[in-house]
Amino acid sequence: MVAYLDYNATTPIRPEVIELIGRVLREGGNPSSQHACGRNARKYIEDAREQVANLVNYKSENVIFTSGATEGNNMVLQGHEGPIAVTDFEHPSVWNVIDGDIKIKVRPNGLIDLEDLDDVINLKNPKLISVMAVNNETGVIQPIAQIGRLCREKGILFHVDAVQAAGKIEIDFERWHCDFLSLSGHKCGAPQGVGALIFRSKTPVPKLIKGGGQERRQRAGTENTASIAGFGLAAHMAKTELSEFKRLGAFRDQIERTIEKVTGVMIHGAGTPRVYSTSCFSVPNTDAQTLMMQFDIEGICLSSGSACSSGVLKPSHVLKSMGVDDQMASSALRISMGWNTTQSDVDAFLSAWQNIKP
Ligand code: PMP
Repeated sequence: MVAYLDYNATTPIRPEVIELIGRVLREGGNPSSQHACGRNARKYIEDAREQVANLVNYKSENVIFTSGATEGNNMVLQGHEGPIAVTDFEHPSVWNVIDGDIKIKVRPNGLIDLEDLDDVINLKNPKLISVMAVNNETGVIQPIAQIGRLCREKGILFHVDAVQAAGKIEIDFERWHCDFLSLSGHKCGAPQGVGALIFRSKTPVPKLIKGGGQERRQRAGTENTASIAGFGLAAHMAKTELSEFKRLGAFRDQIERTIEKVTGVMIHGAGTPRVYSTSCFSVPNTDAQTLMMQFDIEGICLSSGSACSSGVLKPSHVLKSMGVDDQMASSALRISMGWNTTQSDVDAFLSAWQNIKP
């Protein structure tokens, strides 16, 4: 039996979503075709658009389906003239795209440094600011509405990578003062390879993929109908079950109470607003890669630092931005839970922890 504790890397697909995707694939049809099969496929897409819009509390005509958040982030960041300001804890699909632009400092607790943000806004004249709502490594929740208000007051475009917020906290496009917001299906119970970019009415959307007139001429290419339908259902379920997400807090606390007993353990972002599902911690004088493999042998799937950059054995840039030293940043493990996590997954982790004795 494997205990899967790596939801921030990818969530297991909900069975209802798998069933729906199977149905859509069996029915087939190109959503641009005018005949009954095409209209049927189109309906799946438009229903999903409503469901995704509902997840972020905005209008369905402002949702563009993409291949994932990497594409959504690239559309916004590649499509705007600088200067662009981002934080040091952004995902590579943001900071690798704007290399050389302005970096906003991060505080040791994982929150954006609001004083530095003020300085950046007032002294560096950015045209666009991009901030992640929930960090994929630490689970720290940023004060997005506050940052968005500052941007709005100064007429700066505001992009939010809300990938790790979906289904974990309430997302409100208007209240957050967003101009653009990226989502990814596989972080909320849908398959990999589908996502959405939500844009403010009347804000021009930069085109990354040109060709046909799909997605109201904003993103060319025949739609991934089945995955989009699945994403819609997953978004609906994530929104409906938001209040149940709290239950994961008890699991996280139980895990953290045990690991804290090891001298010198550091829980990153502890005491800061964090999502209930994520715990990122460093055990002194250990190597995260080795620990992760030991857990793997014990049947526990978790991640060392960020799975998004796995294969690259570098200390986490997120933790480094919080001032964590190289040794501690290289020994960081991340546990992340979600819709299908049960007490038995937690028990399996705790028993592996006793066997490994980090
Ligand atoms: N942003 C964040 C915060 C993420 O966690 C990820 C996925 N690791 C992405 C963007 C990229 O999403 P996708 O896999 O859909 O391209």
